[in-house]
Amino acid sequence: DLTINKIAAGEVVERPSSIVKELVENCVDANSSKIIIDIIDGGKKLIKITDNGSGISSSEVDKSFLRHATSKIEKIDDLYDLYSLGFRGEALASISSICKLEMVTKTKDECVGTKVIVEGGKVVSKQPIGANNGTTMIIKDVFYNTPVRQKFLKSTHAETINISDLINKLAIGNPHIQFKYVNNGKAMLNTPGDSKLISVIRSIYGKDVCENLIEIEYECKNFKINGYIGNNNVYRSNKNLQHIYINKRFVKSKVILDAVAEAYKAIIPINKHCVCFLNMELNPASIDVNIHPTKLEIKFENEQELYIELRDFLKQKLLNSKLI
Ligand code: ADP
Ligand code: MG
Repeated sequence: DLTINKIAAGEVVERPSSIVKELVENCVDANSSKIIIDIIDGGKKLIKITDNGSGISSSEVDKSFLRHATSKIEKIDDLYDLYSLGFRGEALASISSICKLEMVTKTKDECVGTKVIVEGGKVVSKQPIGANNGTTMIIKDVFYNTPVRQKFLKSTHAETINISDLINKLAIGNPHIQFKYVNNGKAMLNTPGDSKLISVIRSIYGKDVCENLIEIEYECKNFKINGYIGNNNVYRSNKNLQHIYINKRFVKSKVILDAVAEAYKAIIPINKHCVCFLNMELNPASIDVNIHPTKLEIKFENEQELYIELRDFLKQKLLNSKLI
């Protein structure tokens, strides 16, 4: 139902950067090893995203634009065992209802690819086309048929910042993927895709930040964690360098940031924010990520226990570190 799609679009795709988020997450879910993102005018004029992932077979293409069409949940139990980023099957339906969308896609089992044009949520053209394995999405005229468009005509700068920030986060969360990001023709980011988190941090933040990090790795009953925390040379007065991933998903988590902050207070008595890049793995059954459609916030089952365990580990690590 196209009306429902437009309502859902307001939730899932509130702005150009949320479109970029959904599309790039789909590339990640498709097991891509390389993702190329091309943005013009903060995404309002053009969002072009190419991946070398699984592609969509010609017979499945139409289905992927239907609401609640997701290939990522086979049975309801899967909801509790979910590592893929998308699981609502709403993004493509929502996006295609408010933008002009062109997609070229090919699976490795097909000899030819498929090109579709989708307008107002409807596939208006579909034809075979020569293509590489993977998927290219081209979005033009974002929000062309909705009143919110006016609101975004002014916000190119803000949207560019949002998109860049988002791509950085996705790159940090996926060091095994090469991210190439071009904005208004200017190369912004090119990560090596060598599976090393430190390489991504270097690509984004440079050598100085990298040289002042402490590597951490820890495993206990409730969680596994690895990544880097800053030593006292790289603390910041803002929170821009705090990245937390849970089961590969970038999240906002007050509990985890509090644990980091408390640990950090043991070495820096002043109120500064520690730099941190943390990947945590938890049993998906012990977390709830579906409390908001943009899937940023997360709830834990054993919150207090997790807080104490993480805080004490990080504190010990910081106190023991020779860098400090
Ligand atoms: P979800 O990601 O929640 O499943 P989406 O609306 O984002 O829902 O995508 C619908 C479906 O389209 C996906 O389940 C997937 O099968 C397919 N799809 C979308 N983007 C890609 C892509 N880049 N590569 C391969 N398949 C894709
Ligand atoms: Mg998706």
